[in-house]
Amino acid sequence: MQEADIGLIGLGVMGENLALNIADNGYTVAVYNRTAGKVDAFLDNAGPLRGNVMGSGELAAFVGMLKRPRSVIIMVQAGDPVDAVIAQLRPLLAEGDVIIDAGNANYHDTVRRFSELDGTGIGFLGIGVSGGEEGARHGPSIMVGGSEAQWKNAEAVLTAIAAKFNGESCCAYLGTGGAGHFVKTIHNGIEYADMQMIAEIYGVMRDGLGMTPDACAKVFADWNKGPLDSYLIEITGHVLAAMDEKTGQPLVDVIVDAAGQKGTGRWSAIEALNLGVSATTIEGAVAARSISAIKAERERGEALYGAGMKGKATISLEALEKALLAGKIAAYAQGFAVMAKASEEHGWNLPLDTIAKIWRAGCIIRSRFLDQISKAFEAGSSDNLLTQPSFVSMMTESNGALRAVVATCAVNELPAPCLSSALAYFDAYRQGRGTTNLTQGQRDFFGAHGFRRIGEEGDFHHSWPSLVEGAQQP
Ligand code: NAP
Repeated sequence: MQEADIGLIGLGVMGENLALNIADNGYTVAVYNRTAGKVDAFLDNAGPLRGNVMGSGELAAFVGMLKRPRSVIIMVQAGDPVDAVIAQLRPLLAEGDVIIDAGNANYHDTVRRFSELDGTGIGFLGIGVSGGEEGARHGPSIMVGGSEAQWKNAEAVLTAIAAKFNGESCCAYLGTGGAGHFVKTIHNGIEYADMQMIAEIYGVMRDGLGMTPDACAKVFADWNKGPLDSYLIEITGHVLAAMDEKTGQPLVDVIVDAAGQKGTGRWSAIEALNLGVSATTIEGAVAARSISAIKAERERGEALYGAGMKGKATISLEALEKALLAGKIAAYAQGFAVMAKASEEHGWNLPLDTIAKIWRAGCIIRSRFLDQISKAFEAGSSDNLLTQPSFVSMMTESNGALRAVVATCAVNELPAPCLSSALAYFDAYRQGRGTTNLTQGQRDFFGAHGFRRIGEEGDFHHSWPSLVEGAQQP
C-alpha cells in the first residue's frame, strides 16, 4: 500500500488548503480531522489531486498511513486543541517521528510543548505559517523553529510548498525552541501596524479631505506602483473599490468599524514590553483595534464632544504617501528590534535578513520594502533599521511628511495613534539628550533609586527635602 510522505491533522480553512498545496507539489499527504465527515468530503473534493491524498477519520489508521520516520502537521485552533491533539497522537508515534505545530501558537506554549516532549524520542517543530487561505493553498511564508536535525525530516516538503520570491523559497529554519512562532507573532504585530496606518491615512482622505471610497481606491492603486508596493496596499485598493450588491453603496461604507483580533498582535506588544523594547506603533495598532471594538461607547463620546472636523484638511496626497512610508519604516524598525533583542535573550541567533527574505512573498505583509530590509540586514548587522544607511536616506526624505500628516490629524481632530506614535518613536530615537534625566531625579526623590551623572562613573543620590503632607512647600 502507498504510504504518505507527511500527515496533516485539522481540515479547517488553513489545513485543507495546506494539504492540497502539499499534494499539488507532488507529495502524498494523509489527512485526519476530529469531525470525520470532513475527511471524506476532503477526499471526495480533491479532484485531480486525489492520487496524492489519503486519509482517515480514525487517528490510529491515519498514523498507520505515514512513512517512517513520520512527520505530522497539526493545523487546528491554537491553544488547548493543540495540546489535546498532541496527547492523542503521542501514544501512536515512535522514536524519530516529528510533530509540527503549524498554527498560530503563543511561543510560550511552544516552549512548554518542547519540554513536555523532551526525552520521549518524539520531535517537535513550531512553525509560523502566514498568508491566509490563499497562501496556504498556493504558497505561504513559513517560519521554522525547533531542532535543526528534526527540521531536516520536513524540510523538503515545507520548502516546496512555501511561496517563492525570485525562485527562492519563503521557508526557513530560524532557530531553536519557540523561534518560529515568536517570529510569526512579531510578523502579525507588524501586520497590525501596517494595516492600522493604512486605515489612518484612509481616515485623512475620507474625513479630512472628503474623498469618496472610489477616489481613495484609485490613489491606493496608484501607490501600489511606487515604494509602498505591497499586498496590503493592493487589497486596500480593492476593498475601497468594492460595491455592496444589497445597497448599491461602496461596501466599505456599510462595514461596521469594529475590528476583531485573535491575539497575535497583542502578544507581540506584550513580548516587546517584556523585552523592554519600544514598539509603540505596534502597541498603538493593538490599542486602536481595542478602541474600535467599543463602538457604542465611542458613539456616546461623539455625542458628548462632537465628531471632529470634516473636510477641512489641507494636505497633499504625496505627503500622505510619504508619511505612510515613514510610519512603515518606524513600525518595521520596532518589530525587527524586538526580534533582535529576543534573539539575544534566548540565544536564537535569528537571521534578520532571512526573516525579511521569507516575508517577501506568501505572507500578508509581503512587499517590495521587505527586499530593501533584507539587503539592509545582509551584512549580518542587527542594528536598528533607522541606522541602516539605505533607511537613513528614506527616513530623512520622508519624516517631514509624517510630521505634516500627524500635525494635520491633530489640528483636524482625526485620530492617528499609529502614525503619531511612529513619529514620536522617530523623534525620541534621534534625540541624543532626552528628558528622562528629570524622570531619574523624580525616581531618586521618592524611591532613592539613584541616578548616574554625566561624565562620572557610579550611582549617585541627592539629599532631597522631606515633604510632609500639609507642611509648607519649598
Ligand atoms: P479553523 O478553520 O477554525 O479550523 C479549526 C480546525 O481545528 C478544525 O479542523 C477543527 O476540527 C480543529 N479543532 C478545533 N478544536 C479541536 C480539538 N479540540 N481537537 C481536535 N481538533 C480541533 O481554523 P484555521 O483558520 O484553519 O486555523 C488553524 C490554525 O492556523 C490556527 O492556529 C490559526 O490561528 C492559524 N492561522 C490561520 C490563518 C487564517 O487566515 N485563517 C492564517 C495563519 C494561521 P473540527 O472540524 O472537528 O471542528
